[in-house]
Amino acid sequence: MRLLLSSLLFGACGGLGVLGMLTMAAQAPSSITIRAGRLLDGRGGSQQNVVVTVRDGKIASVGKSGGAVTHDLSKYTLLPGFIDTHVHILWHFGPDGRYVAGREPPETRLQAGVENARETVRHGFTTVQSVGETLDAELRSKLEKEQLPGPRIFTSVGQINERSGAARGAGGGGGSGGAATPDQLRTAVRALKDAGADLIKIFASASIRDGGKQTMTDEQLQAACGEAKALGLRTLVHAHSPESIKASVLAGCTQIEHGNFATDEVLKLMAEKGTYFDPNVGVVLQNYLENKAKFLGIGNYNEEGFAAMERSIPLVIDMFKRALKTPGLKIVYGTDAVAGAHGRNIEEAVVRVQKGGQKPMDAIVSLTSRSAEAMRMSDTIGAVATGLHADLVAVDGDPLADITALRKVMFVMKDGAVVR
Ligand SMILES: [Zn+2]
Repeated sequence: MRLLLSSLLFGACGGLGVLGMLTMAAQAPSSITIRAGRLLDGRGGSQQNVVVTVRDGKIASVGKSGGAVTHDLSKYTLLPGFIDTHVHILWHFGPDGRYVAGREPPETRLQAGVENARETVRHGFTTVQSVGETLDAELRSKLEKEQLPGPRIFTSVGQINERSGAARGAGGGGGSGGAATPDQLRTAVRALKDAGADLIKIFASASIRDGGKQTMTDEQLQAACGEAKALGLRTLVHAHSPESIKASVLAGCTQIEHGNFATDEVLKLMAEKGTYFDPNVGVVLQNYLENKAKFLGIGNYNEEGFAAMERSIPLVIDMFKRALKTPGLKIVYGTDAVAGAHGRNIEEAVVRVQKGGQKPMDAIVSLTSRSAEAMRMSDTIGAVATGLHADLVAVDGDPLADITALRKVMFVMKDGAVVR
């Protein structure tokens, strides 16, 4: 009996082996070659007339060679896939044209996410970080399973604030109780990790529409960012007021979002502590104002809130100029793209250069390798270099001469597959 069983097993394995070999033969790795008129490698390097070879979804070589290529992009500039470290990929307008503040069937929300994901990747963004809701992870699975076009998605799954964990059903969100104790916050952070969070999103201050004052105590921030650090997770902290930024940096949080009221003192503190800074100066406020009628009357999207956002636009440009002058400050790329902004993520770079005075090459490095570094992914994304994922974007024109060339996306490849 035992003998019979083992021979049956052997037979089954033998059969699979042949099938496996056949499958491998059908998927034999073949090279894709791309010729670019100009290459900006994402790390500050620039070359003319380059051929990039892609194999198994990775960049196999970057060099010069003649002859026929798979994709002749010699009229264009080739760059690494763009990275947006702060989006809300599921936010959208409903059939009535108004902002949908969460109350809808999950299938409807996922379908909106599919469309946002397609728009995002078609405009060159091959990686995004969504900060974030539970459905983000479902959207990621859906895109993978149904092979739909979209960026690589990382998500915080939920968000931590001063009440997280204090209410019943700890973790993943607001909670309706009073202030959370440090222990409750640590538990909430662990619950998010267990739910699959790639990073932790924390609210250290109020929204810009409510004045941006510090909302979590220094002790609460130390608990939340400390626990995340112990778990090996990065922390993205929404912070507008200088006090909230300072407290977050000193608590060891890894990245500050927005920073609308950042003073020179806290900009310097971020630089000293190596905290990444993601100022959102070109998309989020402008998009809210352009779509005012679609948000107005929902939550804190009231006249006062819109007036506060309008006042903020020149202030954040001034803050960004001071950030650029802060030696050693590591500025990453993030838009805070919400409903109406998906697919227009590159406008942040245009504003940073045209209104903020950032050098185009620095804006491009921020958009690619610097953001990859902040995500601890320098060895996989953010540059056109051997061994990295073949995430490539070709644009019409020279973005070093005119940053708006980044709007003219002619070709997108993600993981070696052509998306556009
Ligand atoms: Zn946001």
